[in-house]
Amino acid sequence: MRILFAASEMAPWVKTGGLGDVAAALPIALTRLGNEVKVLLPAYPGLLKDFSDAPVVAELAGLGGTLPDALLREARTPEGVGLLLIDSPALYTRGGNPYLGPDGRDWPDNVSRFGLLSRAAALLASESSPLSWKPEVLHCHDWQSALAPAYLHYLHTQPAGVLLTVHNLAFQGKFARDTLEGLGLPARAWSMDGVEFYNELSFLKAGVQFADWVSTVSPTYAREIQTDAEGMGMAGLLRGRSATLSGILNGIDETVWNPALDPLLPAPYSQAKPEGKAANKRALQKKLGLEVRDDVMLFGVVSRLTYQKGLDLLAQTEAEAALIALPAQLAVLGSGEAALEEKFSALAKRHPGQVAVTLGFDEGLAHLIEAGADCFVMPSRFEPCGLNQMYSLAYGTPPIVRATGGLADTVIDLPAGARSAGTANGFVLGPAVPPALIEAMRRAHAAWRSPALWRQLQANGMGSRFDWRAPAGQYAALYRRIRRPAA
Ligand code: ADP
Repeated sequence: MRILFAASEMAPWVKTGGLGDVAAALPIALTRLGNEVKVLLPAYPGLLKDFSDAPVVAELAGLGGTLPDALLREARTPEGVGLLLIDSPALYTRGGNPYLGPDGRDWPDNVSRFGLLSRAAALLASESSPLSWKPEVLHCHDWQSALAPAYLHYLHTQPAGVLLTVHNLAFQGKFARDTLEGLGLPARAWSMDGVEFYNELSFLKAGVQFADWVSTVSPTYAREIQTDAEGMGMAGLLRGRSATLSGILNGIDETVWNPALDPLLPAPYSQAKPEGKAANKRALQKKLGLEVRDDVMLFGVVSRLTYQKGLDLLAQTEAEAALIALPAQLAVLGSGEAALEEKFSALAKRHPGQVAVTLGFDEGLAHLIEAGADCFVMPSRFEPCGLNQMYSLAYGTPPIVRATGGLADTVIDLPAGARSAGTANGFVLGPAVPPALIEAMRRAHAAWRSPALWRQLQANGMGSRFDWRAPAGQYAALYRRIRRPAA
C-alpha cells in the first residue's frame, strides 16, 4: 500500500515527545512489511540542512485563504522512507521548539504553520495532487495535521482513506473563530458537525469528525477517552465513533533502545548477561554526584515535568520524607513547568549525594538513567501510551506506574508480599495521591531487597517484545479497511 503520513515531528530531526519517535519508527516498520510510506513534514531548518539537495517536486500554490505558497521537496531516509518537505521559510525557518517561541508561548502563527501542513496533506491525498504518486491512505498524527480530513471533506471529491491517530487528546489545536477564513475553509464548516468546538475552531475535533477511522496509542486509552472524566470535552463525539475507534499500542525502536547494543551506555548488558547493569548504575551515580553505592536503591525519572506526568506527587514533602527514610536515591531528568522544575531543584539541593536533578533534554543521560536506575518512576495522571515504561522494561528497570492508558496495558503489578514474580514486571498504583506513590515505592524497595524476586521481575520485562513489527501489522490491517486510492 501507498501511505502518506502527515506529522509535525520526526526523530531524530525534530522531537518533543513520543509522537516524534512514532513518526520515525512506524514508517520503517511499515516499509519492511512491503508498504511504501512518505512522510509529509514542515521543512524545519534541521531537515533542510540534512537534505540540502532535496529537489523541488511540486509547487503548492493557491491553497486558499491566507495560506502562503510553498515548495514541496522530496528526499529519502537511509531506511527507504520518503520525506515530503513543505518548504516555507516564512513559516518554518526558525530555531527552537516546533510549537513554542523563545518566550515559552505558542508561536503566534501556529494556525498558519499547521494549517499549511494540514492543507498540503489534504491536497496530496486528493484528486488534485500535483504528484503522480497517489496514496491510498492518509495517516494524520495529532492536531497539527488533523485539519486535513476537514479539507478533504469540504474541498475535494475523491480523497484517499484517512486515519487520524490521537497521540494525546490534551492537545486539541484550538484557535479563534476568525481564523476560519484565513485557513481557506468555507463558512459552512463553522458548525457543530464541522470544525467548531465550543465556539472555537479545533483542528483535532475536525479530524475526529471527518477521518474514516480514529485510533489512539493504546487500547485502554481508546476506552478512557470515551468517558466524560477523560474525554477532555470530546467524549460524546468519540463515543459516537466507537465502531470506528480503536487503540494500537506503540512499539519501541529496538535499534535505539536495546541495552545490549546501546552505544550511549558505558557497559552493555542483556537478560542473558545482566552483570553490566551494575556498572551503569555506578557510572550514573558518579556522573550525577550521587554517592556511588550498590547497596542503596536508585529510582530514576525521565519525563516532561507537567501535570500529566504526576511527578508533583514525587516532589511533595511526604514523598520526599519517605524516599530519604528508605533510604533510596533519586535521579531526575526533565524539563517543563517552572514551578515543578524549581521544586525538584530544591529537593536536590536539600539532599546532595542522594537526589540529583538535571533540567533540560539530554538523550545520553536518558539512556543512562534507564540503564543505571534500579526502578523507574512514572505515576502519570493519564498516559496515552508512554514509551519510557517500555524502555524501562527492556532495560531491566522495573517501572512504577499508575493504572492508566498504555501504562495499564504494559505493566503488570507485583502485589505486596508476593514471593515469586509470576507474570509481574513492575508496580502499579491506583489513585494519583502521594500515599499511593509512597506505598508503591516501598513495595518496590522491599522487592529489590529480595534479589531472586527482583531478577524474575527484571527478566519478565526484558523478555517481552515491544518492537514495531506487531503494531505495524495492526496498522496495515486498519489501512486495508479504509484504503481508497485518491482519484
Ligand atoms: P510524552 O510523549 O508524553 O512526553 P512518552 O513516554 O511517550 O511521553 O515519550 C517521551 C519521550 O521523550 C521518550 O523517548 C523519552 O525518553 C523522551 N524524553 C522526555 N523527556 C526527556 C528529557 N528531558 N531528556 C531526554 N529525553 C526525554
